[in-house]
Amino acid sequence: MKILKVKTKPSYEIIIKENVFEDIPNDLKKNFNFGKIAIVTDHIVEDLYAKRLYENLKKNQIKAEIFSFPAGEASKNIDTVISLARALIQKNFDRKDIIIALGGGVVGDVAGFLASIYLRGIPYIQIPTTLLAQVDSSVGGKTGVDLPEGKNLIGTFYQPAKVYIDPLVLKSLPIEEIKNGLAEVIKYGCILKRRLFSFLSKKGKELYNLNSQDLEYIIFESTSAKAYVVSKDEKEKDLRRILNFGHTIGHAIETELNYSIPHGLAVAVGMVIEAKISEILGIAEESVSEPLIKLLKSLDMPYEISHLSSNLDPSKLISHFSKDKKVWKGKLTMVLLKKIGKAQFYEFSSFEEAKEVFLKCF
Ligand code: NAD
Ligand code: ZN
Repeated sequence: MKILKVKTKPSYEIIIKENVFEDIPNDLKKNFNFGKIAIVTDHIVEDLYAKRLYENLKKNQIKAEIFSFPAGEASKNIDTVISLARALIQKNFDRKDIIIALGGGVVGDVAGFLASIYLRGIPYIQIPTTLLAQVDSSVGGKTGVDLPEGKNLIGTFYQPAKVYIDPLVLKSLPIEEIKNGLAEVIKYGCILKRRLFSFLSKKGKELYNLNSQDLEYIIFESTSAKAYVVSKDEKEKDLRRILNFGHTIGHAIETELNYSIPHGLAVAVGMVIEAKISEILGIAEESVSEPLIKLLKSLDMPYEISHLSSNLDPSKLISHFSKDKKVWKGKLTMVLLKKIGKAQFYEFSSFEEAKEVFLKCF
């Protein structure tokens, strides 16, 4: 078992433990003064884990109800939030009660957003069940939903009261979803955790055996990297931007391909290109793209834009940079690598400079 503390205001604990489901009822009773539990989940996770959690709570005399919606990004909208809120009202959920977000990042973002606005805010707990949700979206308190105009356009910063992570739930996750989360794990290795990067490189494809000790280690290293960053910068003013490594180019790729590929695969290729840019600009003090490519290759993950689509034109990608809300503030900024495990912000002197350096990567 590993326990981490996220020092935001308010602070909260992340518990990483095999079969943590068994401990949840008693841990809730010990740490929280509450009435009922609303388990918010999607239809897939409902069958896999929500019923089990519900039974566990019932056995321990905790009153609970399951509220679920269809799985997938298409459900991440305000209508889902309103339907859930109305269902909660009809079942008399009030401020003494707790919402549990049980599922991937979609469930976490929807349930967290709901918790932040339902009766002006009730506590919520994250039980992430995808690797991406375990290492990324369940920690940090960003909640929200999509609009037809774009992703994550409305939302709140609202920290969970606790995060419970069971590495064993990943056994039922399709390999493509594992790769999606691994991209973010590799990102933490690149920007902050050299020893995590070395561990991943040593293990390679063996990681897909989903050995629970390996998983516990990579989840712990990743969540502690994210917890460190968000503790220092809760509202994304400064340091938190280093989490965007690989994402400037990654978002451009996703936009150009109309979000038809998994986020993590776009980020994987984005990281390689941003590592190459670090080398071209002389920021990198050692080779950073080569070990990254080697690692992605060993994991059967993409490392070139041609691996994502046969007709991705680099010059088209560049037009999307300026539209990225995180990087465009008059100047184009990017997170680059000094070495594996150490990131640095870079501000391009002009858009032309960025374009020139970017095109040298191909
Ligand atoms: P997801 O929630 O859609 O889950 C992917 C699929 O896996 C779904 O079909 C789900 O039902 C299924 N699933 C979940 N757990 C499973 C399990 N244990 N076994 C089998 N199937 C399982 O997608 P995701 O990749 O987890 O999350 C993506 C979302 O997260 C996006 O909306 C993104 O914007 C958001 N996100 C948020 C943050 C944040 O800081 N809030 C950070 C990164 C991503
Ligand atoms: Zn990401």
